[in-house]
Amino acid sequence: MISKFYIATKVFYGSNCVVEKGKEFLKYGKKALIVTGSNSAKKSGALDDVIQALTQNDIQYSIFDEVENNPSMQNVESGSQRARDFGTDFVIGIGGGSPLDASKAIAVLATNEIEATELFKNRFENKPLPIIAIPTTAGTGSEVTPYAILTRKDMETKMGFGNEDTFPKVAFVDAKYTESLSWEITANTAVDALSHSIEGYLCKRSTSMSDILAIESIRIFGECINALANKNIDFETREKLIYMSTLAGMVISHTGTTIVHGMGYSLTYFKNIPHGKANGILMEEYLRYNYDVRKEKIDNILKLLNMSNINEFGDVMDILTKENIDVTEGEIQKYAQLAMQQSSTKNNYKTVSEEDMINIIKKSLH
Ligand code: NAP
Ligand code: FE
Repeated sequence: MISKFYIATKVFYGSNCVVEKGKEFLKYGKKALIVTGSNSAKKSGALDDVIQALTQNDIQYSIFDEVENNPSMQNVESGSQRARDFGTDFVIGIGGGSPLDASKAIAVLATNEIEATELFKNRFENKPLPIIAIPTTAGTGSEVTPYAILTRKDMETKMGFGNEDTFPKVAFVDAKYTESLSWEITANTAVDALSHSIEGYLCKRSTSMSDILAIESIRIFGECINALANKNIDFETREKLIYMSTLAGMVISHTGTTIVHGMGYSLTYFKNIPHGKANGILMEEYLRYNYDVRKEKIDNILKLLNMSNINEFGDVMDILTKENIDVTEGEIQKYAQLAMQQSSTKNNYKTVSEEDMINIIKKSLH
């Protein structure tokens, strides 16, 4: 079997990398559109650093700070209009996964006269504008993935696109930007990263090279569990979390995600549960469901996390992501139906039926 390993992103990791490596921006033009949410870029300090770097290098900028959480297609269309109006040469996404993903969609829409629904065809006539990604959460790994996940109100779900051209050209990964995160967002996003490395490790498309990254990422998460659970997150832990989340992003760039993400999208869409939390709620039952076919790998995950069984894993997920969600039988059935339609479902190692999904969701929510 032939396997491929490809990450098209140059990653700078470490304190002050934006300012110290600010000349990088010059390679992509003289006019930058900064794409972010209402708070993250300012609160994290990343916006100040980016403006300093751009100013030092005589690069003009405009700020689009209207990205919603779980961005909609309308949202990225208005961002792309701004990109065109400004004559943008390149896009700088600053924020959690929502602004980073939005920056990818905006970069494609700015150079292609298409409706946002056509993004999911994944073939674009023109190359997107170059994308630079600066994460302010340690979770999605979007800074090193080609994926952008958007909310599709027309289909009542979330859906992703991405190809080799939508990898960010450069990622600036600096843990200091995550210091302004609340405990809750820190925990949710860390669990998202863990779900990337676990789903990537257990899925059909895992390779020996993606496994190396997944194993290291899971091991580092294990080192952070006590700090996360005790709500005592020091800077060293934040450095570990953003490092493991970038590694986990590299994993899913090769493997994709699977049913945890597919089912979780409904919890976000219909119940407004943050993305990482939705994954955390589903992951214990996902491990149980896959145990018979992935025993060796799941035992290794537990070992890497210093846990003796799946119950213990569930206890940690409860501490980090528990939420009581009221759902009806009908809603569960609908979530399972929607998840069955996600292309990532085929990527689960075991062939999944709608009944299996219903059972996993039921057990996870009760
Ligand atoms: P997010 O939706 O980007 O942000 C969640 C909240 O955290 C927002 O209110 C945001 O503020 C705030 N925030 C972000 N950084 C902050 C900081 N440093 N200090 C204070 N507040 C901060 O959350 P996320 O979990 O990082 O991203 C989730 C999205 O990414 C979902 O749409 C998910 O589907 C997607 N995702 C993408 C990939 C991929 O490969 N591309 C992988 C997994 C998930 P603002 O309102 O200012 O933004
Ligand atoms: Fe995710």
